[in-house]
Amino acid sequence: MARVSEETIERIRNTADIYDIVAQYVDLKKRGRNYFGLCPFHSEKTPSFSVAPDKQIYHCFGCGAGGNVFSFIIEHQKISFIEAVQQLGHKYGIHVENKSGPANKIFSSLYEVHDIAVKLYHDTLFSEKGKSALEYLHNRGLKNDILKKYHVGFAPDSWDTLSNNIKALSFKDEVLKKSGLFLNTERGWRDRFRSRIMFPIYHQSGKAIAFGGRIFNSDDPAKYLNSPETPLYRKSEVFYGLHETRDSIRKFSTAVLVEGYTDFLQLVQLGIPNVVALSGTALGKNHATQIRKFASKVYLAYDGDSAGINATLRAGYVLFQAGVEPLVIPIPKDKDPDDWVREEGVDAFQEALGSSIPLLLFHLKKKNIKNLSGTDKSRIVKEILNEISLIGDGIIRDDLLKSLSQELNIDEVELFRIFKQQTESKSIRRTTVKPDSKPKPFTNASQKAQLEIIKTMAFNFDEVYPSMESIIDFQIFDEPILKKIGLLLIKDNKAKDLSAIIDQFEDQEEKRLVSEILFEDVSSDDPKLIIKDCFVTIRRILIKDQIKQARTKIKELESKGHDSKEFVIHVTELQKSLQQLTDKIEIE
Ligand SMILES: [Zn+2]
Repeated sequence: MARVSEETIERIRNTADIYDIVAQYVDLKKRGRNYFGLCPFHSEKTPSFSVAPDKQIYHCFGCGAGGNVFSFIIEHQKISFIEAVQQLGHKYGIHVENKSGPANKIFSSLYEVHDIAVKLYHDTLFSEKGKSALEYLHNRGLKNDILKKYHVGFAPDSWDTLSNNIKALSFKDEVLKKSGLFLNTERGWRDRFRSRIMFPIYHQSGKAIAFGGRIFNSDDPAKYLNSPETPLYRKSEVFYGLHETRDSIRKFSTAVLVEGYTDFLQLVQLGIPNVVALSGTALGKNHATQIRKFASKVYLAYDGDSAGINATLRAGYVLFQAGVEPLVIPIPKDKDPDDWVREEGVDAFQEALGSSIPLLLFHLKKKNIKNLSGTDKSRIVKEILNEISLIGDGIIRDDLLKSLSQELNIDEVELFRIFKQQTESKSIRRTTVKPDSKPKPFTNASQKAQLEIIKTMAFNFDEVYPSMESIIDFQIFDEPILKKIGLLLIKDNKAKDLSAIIDQFEDQEEKRLVSEILFEDVSSDDPKLIIKDCFVTIRRILIKDQIKQARTKIKELESKGHDSKEFVIHVTELQKSLQQLTDKIEIE
C-alpha cells in the first residue's frame, strides 16, 4: 500500500493553490479577501461556500464542509488521502514516491474489501452455486455480456461466504464494520448479504462502493436489501450505472432515469446508452444537483403502478427545482420498464421516449383533474402551485403557471394572483420557522474562552509568542480538539501554515471543525490582553470546579463522622488562588 513522505506532502501543500483547485468545480466570486460560490457538497441557491486563499482553506457556512486542498479533493472525488496527494502531485509536477508500509487509511481498505466482494460474488454467479440465480437472470432476458460488464453477482445461502474469504487478510474490525458488508454477531463477523443476486454499486470514478441485493429463492419480505450508509456510500448522491453511462448522458445532455437495477441493465442491453438508476432511495436534491452537471433534461421511466406514479411526480418536481427539465415516459399501467421493453421491444420504448409528456401534464392527467369536483381540484392546484413556488428560475415558473392556466381554463391573471398570495404567506412562515442548524460545539464559558485563545493565537502568533509563553498552557484545556490545535500552534515556536494543521486530524468531521475554527480572523486590537483574560476565565472555572468537588468530599466525610480537615485546608487554598486571579484582573 502506498505511503508518501511528510516532505512531499508539505511540498504539494505549499505549491497547490486552494483557489485553483476549487475553481475547477465551483464558480467563485471575490468578496472582500475571500471568494464565494455555490457549495459543491450540498444543494443551495445562494453561495455560502467560501475559500480563503491567504489561509489556503475553505469552509461552507451552510453545511459545515471545510478543509484544505487535500480534503477538498478527498471529499469531492471520494478518494483516499494518498490518492489526493498523488493527483495533486501530478497536477503540479511534483514527483510522489511510493514507499511501502502499513496502510493506515481506512478508505483504501474499504475499497479493497469491496473489490474482493465484487469478484467473489461475480465468480459465484457463474459457478455451480450460482446456477439457478443465473438461470433466473437469463429468464429475465439479461445476457452474460451485460451481467459481466456490470459484475452482477450472487451471494449464496450461507453466512460466511465473504467473511471466510477475507479472514486471511486480517482487516481491522473498523474496516469490516464500516464496509457495511458484515454483521457483528456473537460468533464473529457474518455476511450481511445471503441468498441474493448482487448488483455492485460504483462511484463515478469506477470504484465499487456498495451493493444492492435482490432476494432470490427466499421468503425474505424485503425484495431489495442495500448496503447501509458507509463512508464510501452516501445514498443521497449515488446513481447506479453512472460510471459507465455518464459520457453518453453528457453527449446527449439528456438522461433516462429508472428506479431499478434490472430496468437499467435491460435498457442498456437494448442499446439505450444514457440510462441511470437510483440505488436504494428516492431521488433527492443532491441527486438532482449531480445529474444537472451532465444533463439538462431527464426522462423519467418509473413503474406504471400508483407507487411509481407518485414517485415520478416527487422526482419530477425535485428535478425542476434543481433546474433540470423533467419529462415522463408513459409506462403502461402495472408494468415496470424492464418487463415492458422485454415484451414490447426497444422500438416501443424509443417511440414512448419520443412521445414523452411534460411533468405538469402528466400530473394533471394522472390525477384526472378535469373530472374532479371543485374542492378536490383546488387542493391539487394548490399542491402544484406549492411545487412551482420552490422552483428558483422565474422563467420556468411563469411558463408552468401559463400552461397550468391553459390546461385548466383558469384565467391567467387570477392564477398568478393565487400563486402570489400562496407564496407570500409561505415566505412569512418560512422566516418564522427557520430550521435550527446543527448544535454548535464550544458552548460553555470555558470552552468559549479556549476557542477565543486558539483563534487569537492562530492569527497573531508572532505578536503573542513566545513572549507569553509563561501564561499559555494548553494542558488545562478540556476540549481535545482545541488542545490539539493549541499544541500544534506552539510546536517548534514558529507561526504555522494553518492548512497544514488540518492534515494532523484524521477524521473528516474533525477536519471540518478545525477549518471552521481557523477560517475566520478574530478582530483583536490587543491579542495579548484577550489571551490573558481568557486564561483567567478558564483557570477561574477550573478552581471553582475543584472547590465544588472538595466541598462535596467534606460533606461526605462529615456525614460518616470522618475527619475532613485536609479538604477544608484545600478549599481555603483554592479560595486564596481564586482571589489572587481576580485581584490580578482588577489591577490590570
Ligand atoms: Zn455546503
